[in-house]
Amino acid sequence: MKPNVIDEIVKNDLCIGCGTCAGLCPQKILKIQDNEYGEYVSSETKACDSGCGLCLEVCPFSNNENETQMGAKIYGSTEGMKYLPETGYYLDSYAGYSNEFRQSSASGGMATWLLTNLLKEGIVDYVICPSPQKNPEKLFSFEILSDENSVKAASGSVYYPVEMSEVIQKIMEVPGRYAITGLPCFIKALRLAAQKNRKLRERIVFTIGLVCGQMKSKNYTRYIAALAGNNSLNKIQSVYYRGKSPEKPASNFYFQSTDVHGSQHKIFWNEGVSEAWVNRWFTPNACNYCDDVFAELADVTFMDAWLPEYSKDSRGTNLMLVRLPKILAYIQKGVEKKEIKVSEISVEKVIQSQAGVLDVKREQLSYRLNLARQKKRKTLEKRVKTRSDIGILKKREVRLKIRMQEESKELFLEYYQNYTLDIKTFRDRMHPYIKQTRQLRLLGRFAFLICTIKKISKVEGKKDE
Ligand SMILES: Cc1cc2nc3c(=O)[nH]c(=O)nc-3n(C[C@H](O)[C@H](O)[C@H](O)COP(=O)(O)OP(=O)(O)OC[C@H]3O[C@@H](n4cnc5c(N)ncnc54)[C@H](O)[C@@H]3O)c2cc1C
Ligand code: SF4
Ligand code: SF4
Repeated sequence: MKPNVIDEIVKNDLCIGCGTCAGLCPQKILKIQDNEYGEYVSSETKACDSGCGLCLEVCPFSNNENETQMGAKIYGSTEGMKYLPETGYYLDSYAGYSNEFRQSSASGGMATWLLTNLLKEGIVDYVICPSPQKNPEKLFSFEILSDENSVKAASGSVYYPVEMSEVIQKIMEVPGRYAITGLPCFIKALRLAAQKNRKLRERIVFTIGLVCGQMKSKNYTRYIAALAGNNSLNKIQSVYYRGKSPEKPASNFYFQSTDVHGSQHKIFWNEGVSEAWVNRWFTPNACNYCDDVFAELADVTFMDAWLPEYSKDSRGTNLMLVRLPKILAYIQKGVEKKEIKVSEISVEKVIQSQAGVLDVKREQLSYRLNLARQKKRKTLEKRVKTRSDIGILKKREVRLKIRMQEESKELFLEYYQNYTLDIKTFRDRMHPYIKQTRQLRLLGRFAFLICTIKKISKVEGKKDE
């Protein structure tokens, strides 16, 4: 009997809850459920007596092929294809936005433009992406959409657990051409599933990836809603994570929740949301062991243009990496029809825009692997080596963020009662970590200054010689 996903992945706290295993399990005994922290994880409805091992073979966190090996098979032989270790395979890189969808979308609205166009032009029959559900316990779920308005209504970034088990089963049942959006690990799971299942391989004709730094639990949404002043967290009916304000830069977007009575609460990124995001509060443990930044197995990857020349514009701008020649042709057509404004940008700039995420998912990951090994936790084979020589300050930062990640989850449970979060006490308890983070940042700046002074003195010394 082969091991299954519950023994190897879930019991080691490495499940991201993508639902691919549950969608494919021939015995239909796997189900995606909330754990106590508001994260999605796979669970068994009855003990597995088959041991076919399929669930593990399609899991993005099992030690199967990595993204570089899989990317080479999917894209490696395409003419003009290039490769960089940071981005994976790519044909071209662009910056741009959609005239119609920019304001209502997360970044420049390019993902919604592409998805609605694929439907409008009859290139696909269905688009699959997370859609709002107006259900306080499940604010979003992956849905199969066949009209442009529903796709437009699903625009925006979903920092909330969603899973694909049901849509995977539907794709296998209902013939058609599907385009699906996904985070890097979800796209990897779909690619693994497509290797095993002919219907998925033939019917999923486009994969649309999003750059990803981390996922968040349902409790993250409850936390920022409480921070925005919402005290009845069981009554939240809809949320929007990326509201745009004309007087603010694109990076200072707002979160807004609306409850069942229509009352709204709003909070900007710099009013406490960023603190929880960048310090990895409420982030699933699986994200600690992820090295794919640019959704390397997606036909096109969209991201925010986090570069000073773009991020001042409140309306938002996309950067994109294209891997499928057909998508290059659609983009060209969109430019000619004046639906989108797109210009080429160097891949180095694209990499620069995600420098922070690359640091977390590559350099810092190498040390997280080291820590996991020290604690005798199951470690995964990653494309970065296990290392402990990443610098004292960075090591402290990694350890501090892991503490905050764990502590935020437990403190939420402690201070969440009757659907209300005691936000003051929660924040007071997190405060010592925040203080340490600030001290670390100051130390970092000081160390940087000393290094610069040393370098300048060396150059001046050489001049004098
Ligand atoms: C969890 C998460 C983390 C991210 N981290 C980064 C980051 O670190 N750096 C960065 O530059 N960009 C990041 N992004 C991507 C960014 O937020 C935008 O989604 C991207 O720039 C596309 O913008 P757009 O205006 O073209 O998308 P839109 O036109 O708004 O369309 C987005 C499409 O993606 C779908 N979608 C939204 N959320 C999800 C999801 N969770 N899973 C699958 N599909 C989804 C929507 O339903 C919609 O169809 C992240 C996105 C998510 C969801
Ligand atoms: S081993 Fe096979 S039957 Fe058992 S849970 Fe996994 S996919 Fe289902
Ligand atoms: S960080 Fe990695 S594991 Fe976590 S949601 Fe993003 S792609 Fe998946």
